[in-house]
Amino acid sequence: MIHVTEEAVGFIPARNTSLTPITVIGTEAIRDGFDGTCIAQALNSREAPGVSELVLNPDAHAGYGAPVGCVMVSPTHIYPGPVGVDIKCSMSLLQTDVHEDDIRDKTVRRELIEAICERTPTGAGKSQRSVAKGRVITEELGRKICIEGASVEVCEALGIPPEWAERCEDSSHRGHDRTTEALAKRLEVLFENNKFKERFPGKMRQLGTYGGGNHFGEAEIVDIVNTPEAKRAAEVFGLKQDHVAFLSHCGSRGLGHDLASNQFKVLEKMFDTWGTPYPADDKKLVYAPLGTQEASDYLDDMAIAANFATVNHMLINALVLEAFQEVLPGTMGNLVYFISHNIARHEKVRDKFQWVHRKGATRAFPAGHFALKETPFYETGHPILLPGNPRDGSMVMAALPGAEKSCYSVNHGAGRSMGRRAAFRNLDQKTVDADFEDYDILHNSRAYPRDEAPDAYKDFQEVLASVEKAGLAHGVARLKARFVIKD
Ligand code: 5GP
Ligand code: MN
Ligand code: MN
Repeated sequence: MIHVTEEAVGFIPARNTSLTPITVIGTEAIRDGFDGTCIAQALNSREAPGVSELVLNPDAHAGYGAPVGCVMVSPTHIYPGPVGVDIKCSMSLLQTDVHEDDIRDKTVRRELIEAICERTPTGAGKSQRSVAKGRVITEELGRKICIEGASVEVCEALGIPPEWAERCEDSSHRGHDRTTEALAKRLEVLFENNKFKERFPGKMRQLGTYGGGNHFGEAEIVDIVNTPEAKRAAEVFGLKQDHVAFLSHCGSRGLGHDLASNQFKVLEKMFDTWGTPYPADDKKLVYAPLGTQEASDYLDDMAIAANFATVNHMLINALVLEAFQEVLPGTMGNLVYFISHNIARHEKVRDKFQWVHRKGATRAFPAGHFALKETPFYETGHPILLPGNPRDGSMVMAALPGAEKSCYSVNHGAGRSMGRRAAFRNLDQKTVDADFEDYDILHNSRAYPRDEAPDAYKDFQEVLASVEKAGLAHGVARLKARFVIKD
């Protein structure tokens, strides 16, 4: 079913032959691993109204309507499913000046875990106990966060270095008409709903928290790849050989979840009222044509959630740095990058501006891409933060011109090879825990969550080989985990 054109690139013809085929990135082993549901979802998504292109990345697996690990492009339609319920789920990396030797001692690592968990709680529904040290989120500040994202004023109010904004893929998102006012207006409309208004303070108390599932914080040792391009990129990115960096994974928490869920309800009601057929009979592929009120409302809600997610990550990074400073006084740290994998962005693809939905996919603009002109990354490409698993490591990469074939995207991780239930069934707790012992990686829970075990994910080396062989990106630095915080 997958036709192979290069070692790690292939295509799946659409059932409707007037459509261009699905691009598939992956080595043979990866291609063989895609399950039937994932392929069926990819075909459904490719054939949904207004979709001009679809890419299946090596981490692809069955998701919510569209596979996790795909890129869906449309000039005319917006799809909430292929953005996902955790709007702007993202990765961020903080580089510290702590040397690996300084955290070799298990006691120091335990102290760090404790200091970080005290400031940035993990777990579903968890919120800040005291929105750490003098950071009070009034309703006014909460509204500003939703409307402005990581603006200078918001950063200053929360003790976040405002210069981190230039290390963000997007430090603030605007409304459907590219104005901030659209978001202010939309927020007023949302506040007219009593339930939203009542829940708002609670959602704001979740700022600076990871949440549950596979969201995590992880201390890494940086190992820069020994090539001239990698060394040059590492210098621009601010990576430090043999020093500790901290990788964070989370998104827009309850706020994003509520806004996304509400959008599904509203759009489904529209479809049902008008008798519009769902693409492939799947409600999760509900959509709104651009220019309609529904599309504008969705884009505004997505931007509000995205702004919240941005500030959430920035605050987490500021709190993690504070935690390091408590345990290892004098620690300095800088944000390397903050990049999302669940968002739709308006980008130039094949010479025209279209909505690029990245559902568990990471943007990958190479050096010289016009959109990087005003950023520090014009000569290198921006950092791509690619988590694998704690045992087999993670990677910082930079895109190559070949990324054009995947609509300037790469995968956002290794991707699951087993569902959660299958992982509980198939993996043995003792073996999972022994892995962490053997690799001397500490974690915050008594028993590592089995459904999150490294073996529940695809072979990271094979995933990396797919990206490199397809010519999408090159490795800049390997990240080796020293401790993981995950609930
Ligand atoms: P998702 O955004 O789909 O929830 O997952 C992102 C990716 O993060 C997964 O595909 C997986 O490769 C990676 N990942 C999940 N848990 C961990 C972890 O604890 N540590 C690292 N380094 N990567 C992880
Ligand atoms: Mn998420
Ligand atoms: Mn995620």
